[in-house]
Amino acid sequence: MRYDYLIVGAGLFGAVFAHEMAANGKDVLVIDKREHIGGNIYTENKLGINVHKYGAHIFHTSDKEVWEYVNRFAEFNNYINSPVAVYGNELYNLPFNMNTFSKMWGIKTPEEAKAIIDKQAQEEIERINKEKGTDTFSADNLEEQALSLAGRDIYEKLVKGYTEKQWGRDCKELPAFIIRRLPMRFIYDNNYFNDRYQGIPIGGYTELVSKLLLLSADSEKLSGTIAVKTSVDYYDFVNMSGNVPAEPYTSVTGDSFEKILFTGMIDEFFGYKLGTLEYRSLRFETEELPEVDNYQGNAVVNYTEREIPFTRIIEHKHFEYGTGKGTVITREYPAEWKHGDEPYYPMNDDKNNELFKKYTELSKEYPNILFGGRLGQYKYYNMDQVIREALDLSKNNA
Ligand code: FAD
Repeated sequence: MRYDYLIVGAGLFGAVFAHEMAANGKDVLVIDKREHIGGNIYTENKLGINVHKYGAHIFHTSDKEVWEYVNRFAEFNNYINSPVAVYGNELYNLPFNMNTFSKMWGIKTPEEAKAIIDKQAQEEIERINKEKGTDTFSADNLEEQALSLAGRDIYEKLVKGYTEKQWGRDCKELPAFIIRRLPMRFIYDNNYFNDRYQGIPIGGYTELVSKLLLLSADSEKLSGTIAVKTSVDYYDFVNMSGNVPAEPYTSVTGDSFEKILFTGMIDEFFGYKLGTLEYRSLRFETEELPEVDNYQGNAVVNYTEREIPFTRIIEHKHFEYGTGKGTVITREYPAEWKHGDEPYYPMNDDKNNELFKKYTELSKEYPNILFGGRLGQYKYYNMDQVIREALDLSKNNA
């Protein structure tokens, strides 16, 4: 069969791009090496609960067009992300707001909170300057940066252990720029995000992606077509010439393609010929608890002590206000990334950004191959940004 596009990756980027192409009368084939669609936003049903298999996903955006777009493919509930942090026997609201400060210091007003934070931050700045023998403060590492912004209490209880687990390194060894700001709110408001729109798709993200890919009975009727094949790895599927697809683009199954959209790792696409881009990885440990109805009373609970090896526990039913029997929880462990591991977070430091630029230059030699998504563009994108990017790319390439 002849297709206008081969789309590599059935994640959110690939699915939005496929949908837009089909809306423009194109015929596309979407492949994914995983056995399911959805990429990292995949949800699977366990004990009647939509479980976020690759980490908690909360949709939030201030982009009205993107919000209206996703609402075509799912109805969203009114979930507002309000995580809590556990430090020993103490429990604090996040993000840092008046509820957090009130619990930490037994105070009531914003003035009292600001005065404590300013005093503690000033003490740290003076101490650090004294140790360095200077009058001008400049943070040499993440610890100094965080102490100068929030003072000792917040740093010790809510920043230090969590950050060290996330990065697998002591805060003194991490660069200051990782924490440019520590957002604080001087109102009683536990809403983690500042965006105008927020929620979780009722029925789960897989259903949303299924509608985008025209796999649902009530998917929109479009003039083009979308074929989907899972458990198909691009590198086994496409006929190659060296590291890149042989032109004209064809597959081992005898299909042909005008163009390719690739949403996998760009360095892998080019056989790592310029070097390897680095990531942080995660390990998820999911437990079904059929006898427990409410494990922790909140969808997201962070553990901020370094001694506890996971960073957070997700209780999936609370994303959808579930009240049924049983529950499912997932412990999230940060992990070093090495070849073959799931690449979750791009490490956008100078070294890796420089290397990514070189791959972008190289990709320009192949005008009929587009690169998209968090792996193709080597950027940490939230879901709304992925949709925005996919819509823009599809407008220019329909
Ligand atoms: P992916 O979902 O990774 O899709 C790429 C697909 O390409 C994958 O399915 C992969 O199997 C496939 N692929 C790769 N190589 C090949 C190959 N060789 N052959 C065939 N297929 C291939 N965003 C939010 O807005 N809110 C959140 O709360 C949020 N939480 C997150 C939590 C975690 C732990 C992580 C890691 C991300 C989170 N995000 C969140 C970001 C969100 O996951 C991404 O924006 C989105 O999933 C990216 O979609 P994508 O299509 O670019 O990538």
